[in-house]
Amino acid sequence: MSFSTLGLSNEIIRAVTERGYTKPTPIQMQAIPAVLSGGDILAGAQTGTGKTASFTLPLLHRLSSADNGIEKTPDTYPRIRALILTPTRELAAQVQESVYEYGKYSNLRSMAMFGGVSINPQKRRLRNGIDILVATPGRLLDHVQQGTVNLSEIEVLVLDEADRMLDMGFIRDIRRILSLLPKQRQNLLFFATFSEKIKALAAGLLNNPTMIEV
Ligand code: AMP
Repeated sequence: MSFSTLGLSNEIIRAVTERGYTKPTPIQMQAIPAVLSGGDILAGAQTGTGKTASFTLPLLHRLSSADNGIEKTPDTYPRIRALILTPTRELAAQVQESVYEYGKYSNLRSMAMFGGVSINPQKRRLRNGIDILVATPGRLLDHVQQGTVNLSEIEVLVLDEADRMLDMGFIRDIRRILSLLPKQRQNLLFFATFSEKIKALAAGLLNNPTMIEV
């Protein structure tokens, strides 16, 4: 099996090939077609399995093929189309690097947003327009409170390492963020270790998900 038989566009395959990947990993083989079809997924995978590309590649594909991009205006914060939540700033930075790298021929703008750094450069970046936002929950809610992030048009939500987010006590933040998203959207939930908490989160969030375990 190759990346092109999975249905990804040439722009994405070119970036992946330049990165040196020759064939998809098991989680990529399962997750990519499921995400491309527009459905929700519940995926159990450890770091090192290629999980980041398993959601990033089809996400880039979906957003670029359905590109009806909004005009940028200097005084408003344009809509964001995909939100990836991560437990830590390190993971947010790492995931955004992957989005950037795999999306280098795709014309989508992305940004990593996390706490512990000044908020003003993040606001400036947001004003310039972001399609894919990779964020930690706390700083994202700071922006929401200040009116500098608009989540009302999110098409795809990814919870990466959701079990770690729950362990770190982010459940209330996550629920608050979920309440700001449009009801009609695709949800991708990734965890390393299954638990009752993940089960409860998935039950409230996912709609007839494809289950993936590697
Ligand atoms: P992850 O599980 O997302 O943290 O990825 C682990 C590592 O595998 C990263 O360094 C990726 O660059 C690499 N990787 C992801 N997909 C592939 C692939 N299909 N072939 C080879 N390496 C890959």
